[in-house]
Amino acid sequence: MEMICIVCPKGCLLKADDDMNITGNSCERGLTYAREELQNPVRTLTSTVRVSGAALSRCPVKTRSPIPKKLIFDAMSLLDAVEITAPVEEGAVIVDNICGTGVPFVTTRSLGTSHSAARHCGLRAAIPCKNSVIPGDPGSSPG
Ligand code: SF4
Repeated sequence: MEMICIVCPKGCLLKADDDMNITGNSCERGLTYAREELQNPVRTLTSTVRVSGAALSRCPVKTRSPIPKKLIFDAMSLLDAVEITAPVEEGAVIVDNICGTGVPFVTTRSLGTSHSAARHCGLRAAIPCKNSVIPGDPGSSPG
């Protein structure tokens, strides 16, 4: 069996024989990865959930730690029924104990309410655009 090690960007091509002898790895981490991949492959799952009351309609989430690869589709289906309400803090638990793994889905960003987002946009509008003339700045003169 062959697999690409995804632990680092080098991406070594690993080969495993029937006796689970691993070759092709450039370091010990590749050995560990290959053994786990053969015995119990796991993945960190990322997705989004619906959010109401925020400027964005979806909030990104991920599993706090890797879960068994065989549970990925069941875990994804748990998110279909989830809708959260802003404001949301980064790291908030959205679904606890995914499929009995003890691992939760957590948010990966904070989202304020639509109201607070509008205030933020108001602040951004105060930043001069490239055509603005800033008094005392010769580089900003219209030309
Ligand atoms: S075996 Fe080691 S060097 Fe090669 S991709 Fe994996 S972690 Fe990187």
